[in-house]
Amino acid sequence: MDKKQQLLMRQIPAMDKILSISDISMYNDVLGYETVKSVVSRYLDVVRSDICTGRCADISLDEIVCSIGKKLLQMKSPTLRPLVNATGIVVHTNLGRSVLPECAVRNICDIASSYSSLEYSLSEGVRGQRNNHVEWLLCQLTGAEAALVVNNNAGAVILLLSALARNKETIVSRGELVEIGGSFRIPDIMSLSGSTLVEVGTTNRTHLEDYENAVTDETAILMKIHPSNYRISGFSSSVDRKELADFAHKNGLLCIEDLGSGMLTDLTFVGLTGDPTVRECIEAGVDLVTFSGDKLLGGPQMGIIVGKSSLINKLKTYPLLRALRSDKMSLAGLESILRLYLTGKESEIPTIAMITADTTILKKRADSLRRKIRNLFKNHNVSDMLETCTVKTKDAVGGGAFPECELPGYGVAIKSLLPGDLQNVDKISNLLRQSSPSIICAIRDNKLILHMRTLRKNDEDIVIMSLLNFLTRYVMLG
Ligand SMILES: *Cc1c(COP(=O)(O)O)cnc(C)c1O
Repeated sequence: MDKKQQLLMRQIPAMDKILSISDISMYNDVLGYETVKSVVSRYLDVVRSDICTGRCADISLDEIVCSIGKKLLQMKSPTLRPLVNATGIVVHTNLGRSVLPECAVRNICDIASSYSSLEYSLSEGVRGQRNNHVEWLLCQLTGAEAALVVNNNAGAVILLLSALARNKETIVSRGELVEIGGSFRIPDIMSLSGSTLVEVGTTNRTHLEDYENAVTDETAILMKIHPSNYRISGFSSSVDRKELADFAHKNGLLCIEDLGSGMLTDLTFVGLTGDPTVRECIEAGVDLVTFSGDKLLGGPQMGIIVGKSSLINKLKTYPLLRALRSDKMSLAGLESILRLYLTGKESEIPTIAMITADTTILKKRADSLRRKIRNLFKNHNVSDMLETCTVKTKDAVGGGAFPECELPGYGVAIKSLLPGDLQNVDKISNLLRQSSPSIICAIRDNKLILHMRTLRKNDEDIVIMSLLNFLTRYVMLG
């Protein structure tokens, strides 16, 4: 270390001095003194190492306090927070998948803020089963004999393979060996569960003979997996689930299906065709079907397994279940939602409502939001620099469901002719993302697009407020 560096080291302000400055100590209340202290300490470590590597030319107390203050400000607000999804992708995994209906939220609050009958039989005054609250509903809605819920669908698949095919073989078509975003890869799941994966067919074509030829004494399961976020089209074929189930049963094997999204209600009326409902899979003879609670079903994060009671009973006593069991809040949410399906009120489930939203209504809403935005721009004398129009959009179900079915929708497009870097709508999109509440929007042809389909009741006001903030902070001041 040379003389200059030694001097800089000595100029570093004392911890206590920094901690006593009100711009720093004001965070003691929200973050705790120890947290604030560790942030200051880490910052000073960085300053010291910068001095050693010659990246620090001078020491300024103001600068240090300002940098630490910024860091503390960031830490002050929760990082998991509500936001506006203007992407038009309904089941957006990064944005929390399904939004729950009011009745489910209320039930979750009631159950979470009180003791409950989670594992208690009120009629008999003895220990009960948490699964019982939803099992009969799932059976009623899918036609299955029995049902079991776990943490998520990945857990459901691992449980099922571990309990029913450990040290045995599971046959899967090469066309269905999928990876779903977030490191869920069927071959990895298979090896984790201790079942040996036997691949049959080719990427684009698999026939019943392929399964027939692969069956050995070691075979336990013939498994079908929903290809989710991708489709093999063109010269392709796969084996029909009824045919596969019949073949499995003739040979004393199990036929199971990972449906991924899992629909309880038919959505062909909005053009979503090609995927079966859970009931259709059960009727085709599939022994066990697994699916997610928070994708097309529109509920909380869950893995749902429905099918033959003899098999479900095996899963219920398999020790791994204890590590995958669902919590009371998810169960409370799921029960409310299943009751909506039971009474034909699924249109009250936001996920279903957004997927089935009427195009003419979306257009009306887009026109109305566009008018509000245009008036805002007019009132701030920027309407010649920020152009708006109503546009057609291609929305999506998301969550790996119906990847090739576009949902025709409407949105508001904003084009920027603002000076400087604000002409790039990426910049505006970044600012809206970092506003509070954040708005996540799409960009197309250098236009900001607000898709109406995924905007919720109060979201339009938030959009207007955020745009107003944006104007006053970045545009009006120049
Ligand atoms: C989404 C999906 C999963 C994972 O479900 P999670 O509920 O997210 O664990 C598994 N399999 C398929 C086919 C899927 O689409």
